[in-house]
Amino acid sequence: MLLKQKEIPDIILYNAVVHSINENDDIFQAVAVCGNRIIAVGSSEDVCALADSHTKRIDCRGKSLIPGIHDGHNHIWEAGLMYDGIVVFGITTVADLQRKIADRLSGMKKGQWLQGGSYIESQFEENRAPNRYDLDAASPENPVVIERIFGASSVNSLALAAAGITKDTPDPEKGKIERDPKTGEPTGVLHGNAVLLVRAVMPGPFGSDEFGAGRGEPSTGILEKSISLALERYKTYGITSVSEPGVSAAVCKAYHNLKKQGKLSCRIDLMPNWYGFTLMQDEAALSTLIDHYHFSSGYGDEWIRYTSLKMAVDGGLTSGTALKSWPYKGESGLRKLNLRLDLDKLDGYIKTAHNSGWDVGIHVMGDVAIEKAVDAMYKAIKANPRPHRHHIIHAYYPTAETLSKMGEVGIMASVQGSFIYGEADGYDAILTPEKQEEFLPLKSYLNAGVICSLSTDMPCADVNPFWSMYSAVTRKGMRGHCLGEKEKITLTQALRMLTLNGAIQNGEEHYKGSIEPGKVADMVLLDRNLLTIDDESIKEIKVEKTMLDGTFIYER
Ligand SMILES: [Zn+2]
Repeated sequence: MLLKQKEIPDIILYNAVVHSINENDDIFQAVAVCGNRIIAVGSSEDVCALADSHTKRIDCRGKSLIPGIHDGHNHIWEAGLMYDGIVVFGITTVADLQRKIADRLSGMKKGQWLQGGSYIESQFEENRAPNRYDLDAASPENPVVIERIFGASSVNSLALAAAGITKDTPDPEKGKIERDPKTGEPTGVLHGNAVLLVRAVMPGPFGSDEFGAGRGEPSTGILEKSISLALERYKTYGITSVSEPGVSAAVCKAYHNLKKQGKLSCRIDLMPNWYGFTLMQDEAALSTLIDHYHFSSGYGDEWIRYTSLKMAVDGGLTSGTALKSWPYKGESGLRKLNLRLDLDKLDGYIKTAHNSGWDVGIHVMGDVAIEKAVDAMYKAIKANPRPHRHHIIHAYYPTAETLSKMGEVGIMASVQGSFIYGEADGYDAILTPEKQEEFLPLKSYLNAGVICSLSTDMPCADVNPFWSMYSAVTRKGMRGHCLGEKEKITLTQALRMLTLNGAIQNGEEHYKGSIEPGKVADMVLLDRNLLTIDDESIKEIKVEKTMLDGTFIYER
């Protein structure tokens, strides 16, 4: 038995399968908690012997107990806005979407806008975007806007009318109003900047432009409400830590307010916005932004920490905006892209951050974007070696050379199995079998010694961490399409990515991420034993109890 100090436990969880995620992936049977800390792990007999009359004992009936889940890339407040409307992940037919919309509308006032997301065509058996007629059938009296994962949205007739979009409306610059080829009538599917025509008349902040930037900053009050709404859901998935990428000062303030009010049911890593968030950046403002903080990576406590700057280079794979060296399936050349920052300045940006003590997390999808970002980080680290947690985000297509550089200097990857789950069923249309096999190569990352954290990118994909885990292990999408066998990882490897590696990405592994004496008591009791389940049932895993800081915050 491993015992931290001679204290009497407040709570003992025994008769469990404890996945410690310690150095050796040891499995224990029991854990003792005193206050907000884990004080012992070991056999049920040994740990239960520590109890006295005040100790609460919980029989886990042979089920798995895992460290609290750390979603290392998750846009909480935007997820909250979506929960305020409807979430359409996991829906597989247009008819089910219609039912979900109709359900959500009951109880809403006539004329009130309903907004939700995020769909991708391949999730539906119909393999197409929902159109105005689909949405009209479900919502004849309320304007409806359902966002695509990236770069488009589907709206009903009332929303089109509110925006004044008719068959005579010209396409906006960098946008397309999809039209019926026979009648010229808008179908309700809006691409690129055409999305903004509807967004301009919608009440409240929601959605994103081509690159995921919202149309305005909500008030701190709305932010606090949205964050709380999302965190209420997250605890049902065992999520006890989240890294929120790309935050403004107002978002930071909302988190601090919630903490002050005792309403923060999750540990938060904040990644302030830096270069790459709009096409027209204010270079002068950004160049002095990090000086205003008077601190750098690692500032904060066990609840709110400032961990790295968020940057972005390219767009998305299914929206055709990933910066890569090879064409999409069936195309002979590369598409013309707008990038999110000036690539020639990338080395300088990263050097500045690195030398001022800030780590960087950078959104990169295609092989060229990854290569540029890793090169810039590699040079900055080599010129000024210091402990760091620089990481690339999404990181779909690393080359062999970038993998070896990452392994050499410790650049990490923040990856999302959730995109395989949500999008892989449509990859046949845009990627050759070879490129599907190479997509998000988790095993290659492991072989290169790169630490990966597994996250969800909610609301760009669903927040369910077990769907993300399922796809990391099986390489399958929600409708069963498999990307290939070569890059599969084991369930234990995926579990480590989902827990401890999130803490490592943020420099927090000394106090959380695994079930070890001395660490904070963030743990999740699952509804089954992970050692005996088959891979297919990973996606069915449910959480029975979530413990945060020694207190149960969720019980099913
Ligand atoms: Zn994201």
